[in-house]
Amino acid sequence: NAARLQALKDVEAYVPPTVSFVGEEAPGQVFGENVFNKVVMKQRLPKSVYKSVIATIEHGVKLDPLVADAVASAMKDWALEKGATHYAHVFYPLTGLTAEKHDSFLEPESDGTAIAEFAGKTLVQGEPDASSFPNGGLRNTFEARGYTGWDVTSPAYVLENPNGNTLCIPTVFISMTGEALDHKTPLLRSQQAMGEQAERILKLFGHTNLNHVVSFCGPEQEYFLVDRHFFLARPDLLNAGRTLFGAKPPKGQEFDDHYFGAIPERVLGFMMDTERELFKLGIPAKTRHNEVAPGQFEIAPMFERGNVASDHQQLLMTTFKTIAKKHGMEILFHEKPFSGVNGSGKHVNFSLGNNELGSLFVPGDNPHDNAQFLVFCAATIRAVHLYGGLLRASVASASNDHRLGANEAPPAIISIFLGDQLADIFDQIAKGSLTSSKGKGKMTIGVDTLPVLPTDPGDRNRTSPFAFTGNRFEFRAPGSLQTVAAPMTTINTIMADSLDYIANKLEAAVAEGTDFDAAVQTLLTEIITEHGAVVFNGNGYSAEWPIEAEKRGLKNLKTTLDALPELITEPALELFQKYKVFNHREMHSRYEIGLEQYILTVGVEARLTAEIGATVILPAAVRYQTEVAVNVGALKAVGVEADTTALDEVSAPISELRAALATLKSALAAELPHDAWAEAKHAQDELLPAMLAVRAAADALEEIVADDLWPLPTYQEMLYVL
Ligand code: ADP
Ligand code: MG
Repeated sequence: NAARLQALKDVEAYVPPTVSFVGEEAPGQVFGENVFNKVVMKQRLPKSVYKSVIATIEHGVKLDPLVADAVASAMKDWALEKGATHYAHVFYPLTGLTAEKHDSFLEPESDGTAIAEFAGKTLVQGEPDASSFPNGGLRNTFEARGYTGWDVTSPAYVLENPNGNTLCIPTVFISMTGEALDHKTPLLRSQQAMGEQAERILKLFGHTNLNHVVSFCGPEQEYFLVDRHFFLARPDLLNAGRTLFGAKPPKGQEFDDHYFGAIPERVLGFMMDTERELFKLGIPAKTRHNEVAPGQFEIAPMFERGNVASDHQQLLMTTFKTIAKKHGMEILFHEKPFSGVNGSGKHVNFSLGNNELGSLFVPGDNPHDNAQFLVFCAATIRAVHLYGGLLRASVASASNDHRLGANEAPPAIISIFLGDQLADIFDQIAKGSLTSSKGKGKMTIGVDTLPVLPTDPGDRNRTSPFAFTGNRFEFRAPGSLQTVAAPMTTINTIMADSLDYIANKLEAAVAEGTDFDAAVQTLLTEIITEHGAVVFNGNGYSAEWPIEAEKRGLKNLKTTLDALPELITEPALELFQKYKVFNHREMHSRYEIGLEQYILTVGVEARLTAEIGATVILPAAVRYQTEVAVNVGALKAVGVEADTTALDEVSAPISELRAALATLKSALAAELPHDAWAEAKHAQDELLPAMLAVRAAADALEEIVADDLWPLPTYQEMLYVL
């Protein structure tokens, strides 16, 4: 217990750093200060080079290799002026983390001196040793090399560090054979596929000379903060990112007094500090507020192009980690750090469009634009209906399993929420006649305008996993720890499929001479009739919904192991192959890595549970039992009738804890066939329940054992002391 009591003293004595930017540059001035952005490029690059790079960024034109040297040289000069000594190719391996390989700019000369060098080929390609990143069988051990390749569409930046600054270059990470070993490659491929199909549809609607259509993503990140002294005294938090023990505090979140309440001063200081760092990196941090649970907060940067938002999201997480430490806190991105308390998600707000057209999910103010809007909505309805299982699989992880399907996060059943008015419109379309609103006359596609749809982006239906929010769809199932790249890749790909389907139909109708508006109306009716079953505007937490969903034929993939096999079904393999996002080998590798990560996560947690249970909690309980027993003996010795209730009370859960630990240990020692699926099933069906049994006994003891003997910081302490 020394660790806990010491932590309490240290927390008490801790003085957080004060944060003030008074007298320093205004936020507007620091924004993008460390980014090699368009403004910097325009200043520093020869005009023709600048134009060429912009053509790649804005219009998806293939990068002209001849410009690389010029860009590299300008980038190097700029970075050196910013105090950079090294450059790093930053990539996103399938661990979900961010990886970097740093190299010095200095190149030795033959005369023994060294000069700062950065050639175009070094910018464009790197060669980190890839052998220790998960690859799911894509790389033979004798060929451990992987390549990193510059992603021109995501700006390079300088990362500040007291030990020297680094020029960071966002890159893809691929194997010798060109297969994706990362999250960025498929995201870029899927964006391309989706853009091409969307452009076909826009052409049908009369748009010419289109700018590239891309996907936009606005991620909302939820997280917990705990005092670092407590964090370090909790080996479970430290090693697994979540508490494996801990009784529910007497005061939970029932009071609803934290949500949107005043932000504690210390946390506000941390937020101001991080926002400034994010601004320097060009990350548009916007809203910040308390979340539902005590100690829980949210940050939502402004939406950006999908792959930039994804890179920024990763960078945001690492920045948060560093700065939380500086403020004596640890940030928890785990989906469920505290059981019985709300978990954390990372809502992915998705739309598609470009800088000319804005979001294509915005209803227009004329009949023509409305028809276009309804087509893109219909494409989404079809995509989510056909591929709900893939969406579920894109957010499957051991940690997110604790959240999905609990009554706080969207259910594991993937349905779509349209809001009353849009749902009503599609209802009317399904019935073959479109009425603008009740009582008014019939409305025909291409002739009448839609009623004004509410654009309030508030959480009107928090229970839906995929909700229309006025100008975008919000995918709420992604977990707080996950990269947004995987769900974005899936959304882009299934949208590409639906848009392709629609474009084929409409192009054929036009070729046959059918009236375009009539063709659109027929198509919308067909789609909503076939795929309307996925639309659900009711309460996703209700007990009736799973029953109703089953009748509708919607999948309810409760756990990671239910979801992962979706990745390797025949239709899924064909889908991703068709749009050149993943070939079959790459899909199989993602599936294998999903299993591998699951086994590793549960395995670590199970071993930690066994260890903490046996070496931390059991000894404390036994000490208390001894104290009580000594007391009983002492009373008896002086002839007082001793009440042994207290002794029985502590002895029963101690026996339960011993028994549960024995079961867990034997489950951990089980001989398993050397097969990932069998190991994962064992983790799910044997280890997880055995861990829960250990926890139940330990949590019962927490409420019995004398407080001064209890070894781990309690929920009460961790959640309410900031
Ligand atoms: P809420 O709490 O209502 O969900 P937030 O303000 O917390 O709203 O987050 C909304 C997120 O959606 C922000 O990241 C915002 O930039 C993003 N967003 C807004 N419009 C779009 C759009 N057209 N496409 C994608 N994301 C968007
Ligand atoms: Mg929100």
